[in-house]
Amino acid sequence: MIMDDGSWNVIEPWMIEIRRTIHRHPELGLETPETQKLIEVTLDELGISHSRPIAHGVKAILAQNKPGPALLLRADMDALPILEDNDLPFKSEISGRMHACGHDCHTAMLLGAARYLKEHESELRRPVVLMFQPAEEGPGGALPMIEAGILDGVGEACMVHVSSDLPKGVIGLREGPAMGACDDFVLTVLGRGGHGSAPHDGVDAIYVAASIIQAVQGIVSREQDSFDPLVISIGTIHGGFRENVIPDRVDMTGTIRSMSPKTRERAVRRLREVAESVAKTHNARVELVIDAGYPPLVADVPWSRRVKSILTEELGQEAIRDIAATLGVEDFAYVAERVPGLCLNVGIVGDRFTTGLHSAGLIVDESGLKAGAVGFAAVALHS
Ligand SMILES: [Zn+2]
Ligand SMILES: [Zn+2]
Repeated sequence: MIMDDGSWNVIEPWMIEIRRTIHRHPELGLETPETQKLIEVTLDELGISHSRPIAHGVKAILAQNKPGPALLLRADMDALPILEDNDLPFKSEISGRMHACGHDCHTAMLLGAARYLKEHESELRRPVVLMFQPAEEGPGGALPMIEAGILDGVGEACMVHVSSDLPKGVIGLREGPAMGACDDFVLTVLGRGGHGSAPHDGVDAIYVAASIIQAVQGIVSREQDSFDPLVISIGTIHGGFRENVIPDRVDMTGTIRSMSPKTRERAVRRLREVAESVAKTHNARVELVIDAGYPPLVADVPWSRRVKSILTEELGQEAIRDIAATLGVEDFAYVAERVPGLCLNVGIVGDRFTTGLHSAGLIVDESGLKAGAVGFAAVALHS
């Protein structure tokens, strides 16, 4: 069993130390030079060859001379613009930045697996590509790395993500549609200003905006098959500047989350139709700008089942759980669109757990990281 191998007595604390170093120095978006340097120095120490497909991404390869197709293992590297609020001795040293989504853990787990696999390189039956990518939290690092050729010769892929819904030591899997597609939007209502005492002389943009918000929810509740998920959320709304003035414009932003291409296309189209027609009814206008985000993450079913049986064999039945889909997004979806892909959701809930991912108070139980690294290693050695 990989899990019981004595070399983890060395690899596990080493991996946790790497995680803490990355945690202290969070970097954002596509700008991850320090994290990249740490990964490259570590790979050099391990004797694993690597390259830079994009400015701040790293590709490494093991068992390069074995016959393909290769397996790709992916970790992301970027943090979030959040002010860390906990008492960890290794908390962020950069004010306003925090590894609150656990990408520090992902990079550490992949390096932990890399160290183990380097020790067992002769047992690998095919090449293993390690993908360290920036900008998962936006604007996206997976697609530029794919365009730079990281999937050339790759047959299947796996990623890890920590899960604040699962206890440490447990890995959650979801086959088929697993995570959502995202389309963010800016919706502006344009009316005509006037005196608050004489609304009939103007076109009240706040009233029109309210009507649009109501009507848009009808797209979800009255037009959508309830077995095909769709969410439309207005996240910000700004309008008006004085109690007795009819405002001439309202600015709103929001997000559309869906799971199927058909629904995604329809939701965007209907948002535009509904907003425009409601505005027209009230003699107003709208401007709608859609920012198309990541596609849905669909985990290939046969590949998911193969990985599940490998992980069950390695970690035991009680450590593997089927989990529900979410409308959160993940840019590994671009990988899984091109080759069979799957996410290993690694439990990190322990005694000190307080809040979930993307929270300033997040405390990861680091003893959960070993399961993720072992999971990666098991898939590499047995698939
Ligand atoms: Zn995140
Ligand atoms: Zn994340």
